Amino acid sequence: MLHRSTVADLIRLLGSRKISSTEAVQACLDRIAAVESRVKAFISHDPADALRQAKAADEALARGETHHNKPLLGVPIAIKDVIAVQGQPLTCGSRILGGYVSPYDATVIERLRSAGAVVFGRLNMDEFAMGSSTENSAFHTTRNPWDLERIPGGSSGGSAAAVAADEVPATLGSDTGGSIRQPAALCGCVGLKPTYGMVSRYGLVAFASSLDQIGPFTKTVEDSTLLLQSIVGHDPKDSTSLRTPIPDYSQSLGRDLRGLRVGLVKEFMVGGLDPGVKAAVDAAVLQLQSLGAEIREISLPHSDYAVAVYYIVATAEASANLARFDGVRYCARAEGNDPIQMYENTRGRGFGPEVKRRIILGTYVLSSGYYDAYYLRAQKVRTLIREDFRKAFESVDAIVSPTTPTPAFKAGEKTADPLQMYLSDIFTISCNLAGIPGMSIPCGFTTSPKLPVGMQLLGKPLGEATLIRIAHAYEQSTRWNQDRAPIV
Ligand code: GLN
Repeated sequence: MLHRSTVADLIRLLGSRKISSTEAVQACLDRIAAVESRVKAFISHDPADALRQAKAADEALARGETHHNKPLLGVPIAIKDVIAVQGQPLTCGSRILGGYVSPYDATVIERLRSAGAVVFGRLNMDEFAMGSSTENSAFHTTRNPWDLERIPGGSSGGSAAAVAADEVPATLGSDTGGSIRQPAALCGCVGLKPTYGMVSRYGLVAFASSLDQIGPFTKTVEDSTLLLQSIVGHDPKDSTSLRTPIPDYSQSLGRDLRGLRVGLVKEFMVGGLDPGVKAAVDAAVLQLQSLGAEIREISLPHSDYAVAVYYIVATAEASANLARFDGVRYCARAEGNDPIQMYENTRGRGFGPEVKRRIILGTYVLSSGYYDAYYLRAQKVRTLIREDFRKAFESVDAIVSPTTPTPAFKAGEKTADPLQMYLSDIFTISCNLAGIPGMSIPCGFTTSPKLPVGMQLLGKPLGEATLIRIAHAYEQSTRWNQDRAPIV
């Protein structure tokens, strides 16, 4: 049952020498062997490398190294395949990067390593993080451990499914418009997207640089806190990285909610919301109240425009970021008779349909004649959305909403209609546009079928500590995470 352990459990067991890191990693490998053919959370994993790192962690423990200095010593953590890990393949879920091996570690990986973690496994995702179901992965669709006919969400679907199936205790993913929170909600995990600039993007392959942020997937809020603490902080290699004091997030654990004002978004609790999701979130809001929070209704009047603005801003940035995959520098080249044909063949064959759709859309909104009407206008509305939050946070300390409008949907259900797929992020996208922190935590289940529901908490810029305080108090009073996915 070691595979059921949380990060905090493993730290206790490793610290008291009840288990070794090698045993912890072996438990993951055994669990992967048992369930991975059905879940398909990974694109690749390298057991020999993981066991080598575990052995080094065991040697460090034997030398007297402690979790005080190395908070994640010996703990296995798996990584979305969009974050560079030296010596490991980096695919971004795309064929275009075929054969590419990363020559360096992303800053978050350096930080995990200096905290002593065993960095292991490349997790499946929608190609270049574009999607909400992992169905845009060039390799395979990951399955939801709660119901294998359903998708785990996306784009970090592998990161969520691996934790939900107890294949690893924690993972990292990335969130541009919801890609941590939405899959966390659909798989019953805790997912945290930090404030823009809190976590270095160096070594994260860029999708939309003004929105992307790396964050953890875990089984508990305490574990989320442990991972966050290990990866945050200024990085001179990322020009958007914030210089700000780092709080001790563990101070937010185990507190009540008295004196906190929590805003319920008027615009999010109407129309199109699945009744099971609504019932779970309504009950969660009452629970927050009984824990001492004061619930206030708030308005985010421009939230209706968030999806439209996102698909202009994100595609514009993506069209520029993805120009580097040209067959010359990084990726699998498809030859042609001349350079132009080589570019066309490389990009035409290397990118999947959703990535092409976004590059075309992004190029269009940036093109002369349309720039003012689309891109510039979208940037202005982005400012209005940001202002909505600023005003709301004058009267509340955090905001609560459902993370997604529906529970996990069936594979194939939305692939024919990109707009339907895009709408699964209606509640998560505005957080990235505003640059604020967001978290999804389990808040119950729908009945028949029984599927996890996520509650989203949004905070002020740098308000992670408040989100953790609310999430932890709620989690401790409900313990939805005790109910594990039924996959054996
Ligand atoms: N699902 C959204 C999209 O397809 C968000 C993706 C993300 O956050 N990376 O763009």
